[in-house]
Amino acid sequence: MMLLIKSIKQTDMTDKLQKIMQRIADAAKLHDRDASTIRLVGASKMQTAETVRQFYQAGLKSVGENYLQEAINKQDELKDCDLQWHFIGGIQSNKTNELAQHFDWIQGVDRLKIANRLNHQRIIKTPLKVLIQLNVEDEDSKQGVSSAQAQELCLQITDMENLQLRGFMLIPKPESDFDKQRQPYSKARTLLENINQKHNLGLDTLSMGMSSDLEAAIAEGSTMVRIGTDLFGPRPSMGSAG
Ligand SMILES: *Cc1c(COP(=O)(O)O)cnc(C)c1O
Repeated sequence: MMLLIKSIKQTDMTDKLQKIMQRIADAAKLHDRDASTIRLVGASKMQTAETVRQFYQAGLKSVGENYLQEAINKQDELKDCDLQWHFIGGIQSNKTNELAQHFDWIQGVDRLKIANRLNHQRIIKTPLKVLIQLNVEDEDSKQGVSSAQAQELCLQITDMENLQLRGFMLIPKPESDFDKQRQPYSKARTLLENINQKHNLGLDTLSMGMSSDLEAAIAEGSTMVRIGTDLFGPRPSMGSAG
């Protein structure tokens, strides 16, 4: 009986993963893009380690976590899984030491101080891949650097030997209109292209798109979508996550 329940669950996970992969493929095709250049990161905050394991077994390769301790607990339970770990949450400077050891990617670096700390604290020999969190809408209330500040921070991080700057990540304010969804992503893409042209940095990553706007993000050149709800289902309430 347990075995049966397990296999039904596994089929369900495989279906959910395939549905998202299909959405990515459809959006890529519509915009003449190669879907294999778009990485899926499962935004697994509040999901249990067991759920993540089932999606891993269904073929998910990368996960993004928002809370350090929750992530470390999951990593411990999933040691045997060859998963790539992204940190996609807000970064507090007193957490950088652990972040530097526990993750492959840190998305959302938004100030020099954080980058400096990560660079000094990264012990593992492979450089830590980082993205700068952009705030192209220049809202005071949100994290991220403005377009005007982005270039300077890019050049500063590029000089750090234990960090490998790869591009930008964005969390725009929610919009339901497709064209409105595209606007901040379009700005981010233009900025990345300009900085690459001017400074030859070879930035290759735009982490843009969540459940409700992945199509708009892919239309604007996203190379990484972070999907929670439409992949794992609704998030369980706090406390149940491993
Ligand atoms: C939770 C989260 C996501 C995924 O959001 P969904 O709408 O559930 O797909 C993506 N990015 C970040 C930074 C998140 O915190």
